[in-house]
Amino acid sequence: MRTIHLKNAKIITMNKDLQIVEGDLLIRNNIIENIGIVNNTADETLDCSGKVIIPGFIQVHTHLCQTLFRGMAENLQLLDWLYSKILPLENAHDPDSLRCSALLGCCELIKGGTTTILDMGTVHHTEQIFIAVKEIGLRAYIGKAMMDMGEGMPQQMKEDTDRSIGESVALIESWHNKEQGRLRYAFAPRFALSCTPALFTRIKKLADNYELIIHTHSSENQSEIQEVEKLTGKRNINFFRDLGLTDQRLVLAHCIWLDSEEYDILARDKVNVAHCPGCNLKLGSGIANIPDMLDRGIVVGLGADGAPCNNNMSMFNEMRLASLIQRPLKGPSAMPAQELLKMATINGARVLGRENDLGSIEPGKLADLIILDLNKTHSFSDPDANLYSRIVFSASPENVDVVFIDGIKVYENKEIKGIDETALLKNARTELNKLKNRL
Ligand SMILES: [Zn+2]
Repeated sequence: MRTIHLKNAKIITMNKDLQIVEGDLLIRNNIIENIGIVNNTADETLDCSGKVIIPGFIQVHTHLCQTLFRGMAENLQLLDWLYSKILPLENAHDPDSLRCSALLGCCELIKGGTTTILDMGTVHHTEQIFIAVKEIGLRAYIGKAMMDMGEGMPQQMKEDTDRSIGESVALIESWHNKEQGRLRYAFAPRFALSCTPALFTRIKKLADNYELIIHTHSSENQSEIQEVEKLTGKRNINFFRDLGLTDQRLVLAHCIWLDSEEYDILARDKVNVAHCPGCNLKLGSGIANIPDMLDRGIVVGLGADGAPCNNNMSMFNEMRLASLIQRPLKGPSAMPAQELLKMATINGARVLGRENDLGSIEPGKLADLIILDLNKTHSFSDPDANLYSRIVFSASPENVDVVFIDGIKVYENKEIKGIDETALLKNARTELNKLKNRL
């Protein structure tokens, strides 16, 4: 039994009444035992006077395999970005470069207060992402990218359907629910243009058997949806519905270009949406109609997507952008800050089906939380100012003081536990040079 007592904090619980509690918090092992008044003598005490505790951020769409490629695919629209740059780069990964890319991404995420991710890996060597995430202590859902169809990509990226399924099942057997459940598997068929209907159908059957999430991209870009229509005769969401995929287990990244029937399908079938405003703006893809989705009761979480389409993995950026991009059209009261913090925490947990043990600070939930110090020059504010606004519109990774994941203090004093950042950066340069020689 190990206990940690966080004293004198302002705790933004994100519970259903959105209570803000001034007081203490007790962590016992990996669980939040108590908040408010804590009398216990703990093994460790941390004075949080003047600080704010919030639930760790949950990013429901990332690609750790692409972190090494930041800045290497600029000013392109989605399909060119993917086929001319990203797939050849992913194809050039070997196990060492992939593990390095994942570690680099995890460092950035943790330093920015992200404690859980839903990650799409690449076609080969995805066990290396699990190894990196296991080492660094992040909570993650990871799946190998599945692609058994398509033209214009490196031949080694195109898999035989049986092999794609076989490799996924082997990864489930090796990694799902490991590290006290901190690591989970999630199927990751890349998108409708790279997967046969037969592959999607087999994934669905397995996902139901193993009770796993299916994580894919949909309706991100107009050329993409035209290609999907050419190929299948259907709009993207209708295609997924007809394959039997649309239900609570499905997480769709983007969902920008939908018609009214597709919105109806998402709402009726309780499909979850991963909104990635930074990536959508940078690739010029469009603006997802999130206020409309929220009105329809669709559960929406946030994600930074990958380093080469954003080019920043901070949840603070995504919250801020997700609010600001709606305002020119919908007005200045659209997407208020507390709605954004909900999307970044408890609604992210709902996307993953984990609202019972993640996403808010409540007794009995897993101890994934971050301590923020808002008393910095860039975030100075009247203490009576709206706390949600201070966090969503002014804060940045610089404000993150301490990060707990599964009750473990993984980040403190600007250092990530067990990671030598200088050595990691040096290794990243070496691995990227070697990768470029393999291109
Ligand atoms: Zn993506």
